[in-house]
Amino acid sequence: MKIDCGIVQDLIPSYVDGLCSESSKQCVEEHTKDCEECRAFLEECRAVEFSGKVLEEQQLDGLRKVKKKIKLQNMFSYGLLLVVILFAAYFFTTNIGAINVRWYYGLYAVAVAATFVVTMQGKANVKYEKVEKIMAGMSLAAIAYALFWYCFMMGSVGNGTVPLGLELGQVGPFLHRQLGIALAVEIAVFAYTMVRYLKWDIVCRGTLLISLTGLFFILAQTTLLGRLSTLEAHMRNFTEAAVVILGAGAVCGLVLWGVERRRKKQVR
Ligand SMILES: [Zn+2]
Repeated sequence: MKIDCGIVQDLIPSYVDGLCSESSKQCVEEHTKDCEECRAFLEECRAVEFSGKVLEEQQLDGLRKVKKKIKLQNMFSYGLLLVVILFAAYFFTTNIGAINVRWYYGLYAVAVAATFVVTMQGKANVKYEKVEKIMAGMSLAAIAYALFWYCFMMGSVGNGTVPLGLELGQVGPFLHRQLGIALAVEIAVFAYTMVRYLKWDIVCRGTLLISLTGLFFILAQTTLLGRLSTLEAHMRNFTEAAVVILGAGAVCGLVLWGVERRRKKQVR
């Protein structure tokens, strides 16, 4: 019995999928033995089916990889958050003046490295770009605020005067309060960026870097303030901390800016 090619070609897709009945299967097999046109159609359907399966596999594989990456990056960010919180808690419950400021350099380097690693693959959420800029500005302002009061008060004391009608003994506590304000701002910005960060809105990477720089710099200042030493030794240590932390922050900021620019170019 010669079957119409149209009927066979209607059957071929379900034949390829392995969905047709035994009799239809036989029918297709017998017909394609003799019919060149239907055989070609069958080969074509098989090829499409095969590439579809390969594509599906690839997509699944890609999805698995992305999931793994997200998991890894979330782990990193939770780890980073934990380190900074534990670290801050430790310093606020111990004699802050007894801590070696150089510890901050190492911890700052670790925190910044973690920031770089976990944000590299991130996708920016444009919705938050404006808030991020305000946050980054606040964080920079807090650094400038801490820097200003420190230099102003220490400079005055170095010149033998005490401004604002304060007595010499009040300079330390006054500076401590100013640094506390700046530190509170940095902690608020850091907390905000961490939330964005964990929600995968990685546009905050620059803000995170600035707030981490501010946090470590102000902590270093607070530590130095709590330490008894001569004014010269004090200013030397302070200058070192400022150059190391703020300098490293500026270099990392430039690198991040370059990476961001290249990424934006690639997107376009
Ligand atoms: Zn045919």
